[in-house]
Amino acid sequence: MVEKVIPIRIDEGKGLVPSIGTQLITPHGRTQDTRGRVLRDLRISVTDRCNFRCTYCMPKEVFDQNYPYLAHQELLSFEEITRLTSIFSSLGVEKIRLTGGEPLLRKNLEILIEMLAKIHTTDGKPLDLTLTTNGSILRKKAAALKAAGLQRLTVSLDGLNDDVFKKMNDVDFPVEDVLDGIAAAQEVGFANIKVNMVVKKGTNDHEIIAMAKHFKGSGIILRFIEFMDVGSSNGWNMEQVLPSKEVIAQINAVFPLEPIDANYTGEVAQRWRYLDGSGEVGLISSVTQAFCHECTRARISTDGQLYLCLFANEGFDFKSLLRSGSSDLEIANAIMNTWAQRNDHYSEIRGSQTANPTAGSRKVEMSYIGG
Ligand code: SAM
Repeated sequence: MVEKVIPIRIDEGKGLVPSIGTQLITPHGRTQDTRGRVLRDLRISVTDRCNFRCTYCMPKEVFDQNYPYLAHQELLSFEEITRLTSIFSSLGVEKIRLTGGEPLLRKNLEILIEMLAKIHTTDGKPLDLTLTTNGSILRKKAAALKAAGLQRLTVSLDGLNDDVFKKMNDVDFPVEDVLDGIAAAQEVGFANIKVNMVVKKGTNDHEIIAMAKHFKGSGIILRFIEFMDVGSSNGWNMEQVLPSKEVIAQINAVFPLEPIDANYTGEVAQRWRYLDGSGEVGLISSVTQAFCHECTRARISTDGQLYLCLFANEGFDFKSLLRSGSSDLEIANAIMNTWAQRNDHYSEIRGSQTANPTAGSRKVEMSYIGG
């Protein structure tokens, strides 16, 4: 039974105040933190709402009809998201991932994508623009997303067996409709589709081989994610984590694999390819093999708080800066100063308090901060 805890979120105007500094410097493409990590990726949560109630993310006992979702005026507008993204790109950000909540529930999301697709990196290249979705309304949205300029897609799917999947999404959503959403994305020309499977020991780990078999040879990269202790409401417990090396061992016993190099420094997933040449899988091992030392990601919550870590419990209030007449240069300096003081490495020092958070150590929910 999950304890009913209303997850923290920052009340209007109550986030940490970012420091603009007195001597403004011109943005440059290499913004580094105290551990030498360079700012390259930005994840933006466009809504804190979702139509699924995945037990590991937005359990129904907590996210019920009384849950205090953000009011529309608290959300960053498309113009504010675009302005912020453009400032981030002037600081070296090259990759944007839209997430949530379920991003496709944000009305007219394709208009935002069209706006973001016009932004360029400091090298003059288009941003790498991608989105993570549960796929439930992808059939309806795929063509508009593609036309708007979305380049890549990640779809979450935790199993092929309907009973298992429905138990995890907890809203009785069938596997077939997610697979149909993926097919729709392929039909409209999305290449590089990835599928994320969160592996929860004792719940869906017996689906690993079926999933591997299904996506092997399809051109779609299946990625296995260790069940993480994000937020404070998913009842996380180390016993439910299946270490990635056991996932690899299971697959390798049936479909032999070999490790391959990362595509770029800071890539979250470790890559393994099938020896028979039928593609690759990825492993995201935030719990057993933390990758904080090469984390290049910042996150913007649905209401414009900048978070420096997925496991943070405090954000910096950029919405207030955006809404109080600050210039782009001032906001850029505030981002640089915020990132420069970054020192977190939560996953590397994850301890026993993780399983039993006290009020002071509660972390923000993934649906709010963006997964
Ligand atoms: N609604 C979208 C979706 O389902 O993909 C986007 C948001 S969701 C928070 C982003 C990703 O985070 C999904 O792949 C989801 O499975 C993953 N996720 C959520 N909670 C998690 C947890 N506790 N451990 C590992 N992954 C988690």
